[in-house]
Amino acid sequence: MICGGGLVGASLALALAHLPLDICLLDPAPHAPKPRTDDRTFTIAQGSKRALATLGAWSRLSRKDFQPITEIEVSDRAGRLGLTHLFADELGVDALGFVTGNVALLAALYEALSETGVTLRRGRFAGMTTNDEHAIVTLAGEQEGKRLECRLLVGADGTHSAVRGACEIGVYRHDYGREAIVSNCRVSAPRPTTAFERFTPDGPIAALPIGDDRYTFVISRPDATEWQALDEDPFRDRLTKTFGDRLGRILAASPRLRFPLMRQHAREWVAPRVALIGNAAHTLHPVAGQGFNLGLRDVAVLAERLAEAVRGGDDYGDATWLRGYAQVRQADVANTTRFTDGLVRIFAQRLGPVAIARALALNLVDGAPALKRMLAVRTMGLKAPLPKLFRGIKP
Ligand SMILES: Cc1cc2nc3c(=O)[nH]c(=O)nc-3n(C[C@H](O)[C@H](O)[C@H](O)COP(=O)(O)OP(=O)(O)OC[C@H]3O[C@@H](n4cnc5c(N)ncnc54)[C@H](O)[C@@H]3O)c2cc1C
Repeated sequence: MICGGGLVGASLALALAHLPLDICLLDPAPHAPKPRTDDRTFTIAQGSKRALATLGAWSRLSRKDFQPITEIEVSDRAGRLGLTHLFADELGVDALGFVTGNVALLAALYEALSETGVTLRRGRFAGMTTNDEHAIVTLAGEQEGKRLECRLLVGADGTHSAVRGACEIGVYRHDYGREAIVSNCRVSAPRPTTAFERFTPDGPIAALPIGDDRYTFVISRPDATEWQALDEDPFRDRLTKTFGDRLGRILAASPRLRFPLMRQHAREWVAPRVALIGNAAHTLHPVAGQGFNLGLRDVAVLAERLAEAVRGGDDYGDATWLRGYAQVRQADVANTTRFTDGLVRIFAQRLGPVAIARALALNLVDGAPALKRMLAVRTMGLKAPLPKLFRGIKP
């Protein structure tokens, strides 16, 4: 049973669907949300696109559902201090990554799932017990008291995971004291395949192209409540002033969504008959657009372990297999977290010497192809060793 049918849980269900297993995906709403309820956009790394293609989901997106990124401009302040560019052609790839929407991607995953034997079950996890062979899950709400038995329970139920709570697994949490404001905007001078990452003293701003003259702005601020409450005109003025004029003027802005920013890690990733994946195991600052990409790598490794156990006739819910999954994932998650957190901390420094060193470092990266390649390989999700799903092979 996979508890949580978000991007990560739905991807795991697909990754396992070809194995001789009875898979149940449990979620209060086991389908893609309606457009406009959460039409956030994501950057999908090259490696993740490959994994989603292997799952049979990527080909279900229509061309207007995703936008390739061929250039990323990273700068300090409004592009006035340090500046570096990453270009896809310099690195020999067709795109550095892709921007796609939460709704479109979930719709593609659920469409692919509808052609498998996976059971989509509407329900909310309330608690669980375990015995030697099973986890016994109880449901909440309308189905209160209903019990479901499974050999393995995967917690893919997000940052506030109830599965993690039921296993009494604690978390390490750091609150950045900021929130992200997300708004889709029309701009007067679009560069449709260029993404921007601006580091301002109050927090980073990402601008992601979503087709035609539209960009998603992800703005990290300590005063996010105030930004969200602004009427559209003052919001557009403030955003133009803070982001700079690289995309011309902001012509229109959608209602703003607000997300708290934190770094969080589960103290353990597995418990008897339980494994955690995606945001249930780790939540990152969105600055480098790595959260879902990292969750998809959890999916790939867990699916590979489970497939190996199933093919060998082993009990795939046994601690030995689960511990193997947690061990393999540790280094990637620790490195990605350090990288993301490092960016946030270094660029939050207002002090003169740090700011100057940072600007110099950005300019240095701009003139150093080898450094650029290292940075790009990490953000493109192509760092070896790649799990099967990322090499085009079903586990
Ligand atoms: C502003 C912002 C921008 C981001 N940008 C990027 C980006 O560009 N690239 C990137 O890779 N990542 C990005 N991320 C991170 C990304 O959103 C997450 O890493 C990803 O959505 C996590 O997916 P998940 O499936 O683990 O969790 P969720 O998406 O939180 O899904 C959890 C699911 O569990 C279900 N659930 C919850 N409780 C229960 C229960 N009790 N019983 C049953 N089901 C339950 C929910 O209904 C939901 O469907 C961003 C995040 C933010 C906040």
